[in-house]
Amino acid sequence: MSNSTSASTSSRPVRTRMAPSPTGEYHVGHIATLLKNYAFAKKHGGQFVLRIEDTDQERKVEGAVERIMSVIKAYGLDWDEGPDKGGPYAPYTQSERLPLYKAKAEELVAKGQAYYCFCTSERLERIREAQRAANQPPMYDKHCRHLDPAEALRRVEAGESYVIRLAVPENETIRFTDLIRGEIEVASNSVDDQVLLKSDGFPTYHLGVVVDDYEMQITHVMRGEEWISSTPKHMLLYQAFGWQPPIYAHIPVFLNPDGKGKMSKRKGTVAAQSFLDDGFLPEAMLNFFMILGWTPKDQREILTLDEYIQEFDPAEISAKSVVFDLAKLRWINGMYIRKLSPTELKQRLTPFLPTDFPAAQTDRIISLVAERLERLGEIEELTSFFYRPVTVDPTLLHKKAEPAVVAEQLQTTSAALRALTTWESSQLENCIRDLQAQHNWPKSQYFMMLRVAVTGRTATPPLFETMAIIGQSEVLSRLEAATQL
Ligand code: GLU
Repeated sequence: MSNSTSASTSSRPVRTRMAPSPTGEYHVGHIATLLKNYAFAKKHGGQFVLRIEDTDQERKVEGAVERIMSVIKAYGLDWDEGPDKGGPYAPYTQSERLPLYKAKAEELVAKGQAYYCFCTSERLERIREAQRAANQPPMYDKHCRHLDPAEALRRVEAGESYVIRLAVPENETIRFTDLIRGEIEVASNSVDDQVLLKSDGFPTYHLGVVVDDYEMQITHVMRGEEWISSTPKHMLLYQAFGWQPPIYAHIPVFLNPDGKGKMSKRKGTVAAQSFLDDGFLPEAMLNFFMILGWTPKDQREILTLDEYIQEFDPAEISAKSVVFDLAKLRWINGMYIRKLSPTELKQRLTPFLPTDFPAAQTDRIISLVAERLERLGEIEELTSFFYRPVTVDPTLLHKKAEPAVVAEQLQTTSAALRALTTWESSQLENCIRDLQAQHNWPKSQYFMMLRVAVTGRTATPPLFETMAIIGQSEVLSRLEAATQL
């Protein structure tokens, strides 16, 4: 099966596309699918096209096209031809191509492969009602299929409202090969005489997608598996036009991070932009998408976009849905954060720094927490004790020693630290280690107690460096406050 993915099976140059409908937010699943189309085109020295499928005017959302384009770019991806760039098959926005779809639909009518339908929405609703009552699947009853063509044309010319429907052949088997699932067969009798051209002159998705994939010379279509039930309809259209269909691969959907059900908004965010807003690096997101449902031959999990382009083969995509594993995503993101130079990290973190972040200490604080950062958006949570008042939980403070012992430790430490004339981590370390040895306080209890008193937390960057940054007077006042608990 895999040989059919190779560009050489077709003499045409590889052209892939992503065809978003501007009906809402762009999801992580869209970016993951786009990445595959993008990489496959690049692998074969071909072109990747962005086409806007805005034929559903009712569901169209203002500003969605701009947001889709900007989020694709924010992920570090781009297209060779598209609405903003033009290209040999422009325009790339379907609402600007209406005459083409009308002409193509009429061409099918002329060939007897499609027909005018004048049924009112009331009539269609009545049929659907009856089918529902009889427990039958909703399908058009082909009422207008047998109208005399000359009579139908007269009614169209007289200005009667109509749609154009595909005359689906009866008793045939529709066959196509999906690169991931293999051969698929569907009985033509189960396919509705679908509408191709709506009464407002807009094409339906089915007509638009087939005409444009053909006109734009698309050779391979990778799209979400939710479209697989549309593919038999598309095959019928290719057959009716006498065109060669592209090669299809339907990509399994992501499952929710808890492994239950198709990934959905109800169980957390799915919007591609919001992951970037939370501080996942675009290159880490792409790496994550690469290995969801596909693994390179040597099983490695970290790979660059260039390596992916070289190695990716859609025929190797798993047919099973994969869990959108947030723990894995965080791990990968942490790896990519660790790869950044201090200057790059600071630059990337800048939009995430809270306004009260101490500018003079930025580099020192960042370098202390960089190891633990898995998401840029965690920076505030990981560092707030450096520059905001802390709340200390008395039970944590007294966890391993009596309150009287703790109070004694705090007072002795305060006095010693107050006497220091330089406030650097090495001095702090010497001073505090000496105290511990002198009084023979249990090491782990004493250090943890100090950490809790100074930061309010049990997990922080190294204690002495942390205290050095917080500063002498603030540390002393936090120790003082802790003695009151
Ligand atoms: N316009 C469809 C969408 O919103 C395109 C589906 C396809 O790729 O054929 O995803």
